[in-house]
Amino acid sequence: MNQFSTDVINLGRTPERFDGLVNTPVFRGSTIVVNSFSEWEEFKRNGGVYRHYGRFGAATAKSFESAINALEGGAGSMVFPSGLSACTHALMACVEANSHVLIADNIYGPTRNFADNILARMGVSVEYFDSTNLEALTEKINHRTSVVFIESPGSMTFELSDVAAISAISHQYGAKVLVDNSWATPLLFQPLKHGADISIQSITKYIGGHSDILMGVATANAETYEQLTKTGHLFGETTSPDDIYLASRGLRSLAVRLKQHQNSALTIAQFLTTHPAVKEVLHPALETSPYHDLWLRDFDGSSGVFAFYLKESKPSYVQKFFDSLKLFHIGLSWGGFESLILPVGQAYRTHTNLPKDGYLVRLNIGLESVVDLQKDLEYALKCAEQMLVESVI
Ligand SMILES: *Cc1c(COP(=O)(O)O)cnc(C)c1O
Repeated sequence: MNQFSTDVINLGRTPERFDGLVNTPVFRGSTIVVNSFSEWEEFKRNGGVYRHYGRFGAATAKSFESAINALEGGAGSMVFPSGLSACTHALMACVEANSHVLIADNIYGPTRNFADNILARMGVSVEYFDSTNLEALTEKINHRTSVVFIESPGSMTFELSDVAAISAISHQYGAKVLVDNSWATPLLFQPLKHGADISIQSITKYIGGHSDILMGVATANAETYEQLTKTGHLFGETTSPDDIYLASRGLRSLAVRLKQHQNSALTIAQFLTTHPAVKEVLHPALETSPYHDLWLRDFDGSSGVFAFYLKESKPSYVQKFFDSLKLFHIGLSWGGFESLILPVGQAYRTHTNLPKDGYLVRLNIGLESVVDLQKDLEYALKCAEQMLVESVI
């Protein structure tokens, strides 16, 4: 992560272009006028006049995209109005009717819903596979496969996939590899360097970092960039310059925030590992994780989202646990400064066997004092355990 600490400060900033202002300002605008007829005709010759229109993004967008692209090591990035929008447009850029897509069983739920509803309706055959098992991929991939879409780690159960091996297999069949990289951010993992074709970020999460924007970005390699941006533009996708400004502001503190998220999450994960009410902790950076070796090989650190199974899944016990927390609030999303907890129960899977007993809980470890966070969990677990003892008596 350290290699990027300076980059996140400087990338995408050009004060000399903006009267010395440290940050690229918010540029609003639809129309971009030209000075003369000949300039207009020149635009026509060089890629078309329609490039010179607000929908394609002004300096605010371009500064941010260039920073993300440099971090991901791509040929170019494109911002989208949400993380989901980045996922769906990246998919749309790579599929055609009668093609086949393979999607990891642990993919973000709404991405799955898009594939099952929209892609399927357009005549794309959608199939799921266990992306931690290369044999499952080789069994299902074929010459009609246009996309293999994975998320590593999955954002509910935190299994890692071997992006390099999956990319090598997929490319033999001419399929594009899309990776939802929101958990790691480009600071901890760069999918394109491991062979993927498009890396996707939900900016809403760590890069935004403050739970105040919805935004996404997709970064492509040289062979895929034009395909990605053309599709996004044909759909008329635009992203608010105000949101992009906030995303750029988030990026400046990303390295220090991630360091704190990482350390606190590891402390809490270790604490939970030793707690008698906890069945299992799902965090790839724990030595006990089956994905630990892969994590060491590919990642430069870990972030602050992970999950664990409570041994007990009795509804009254689970409710007592959640309602006894004071610092962790129940809510969707993650990557912000505030700690969150999500009652999952059982993650939805169709091609993977998950434990049937226990109750899955996802944590977003925020930037509060880790001592306070641990105390909060400890207290809530104690309340739930006490209730269990009392109800048995
Ligand atoms: C949240 C999330 C998304 C979608 O991002 P939004 O900005 O909420 O649309 C995509 N992928 C993963 C892994 C996410 O956690």
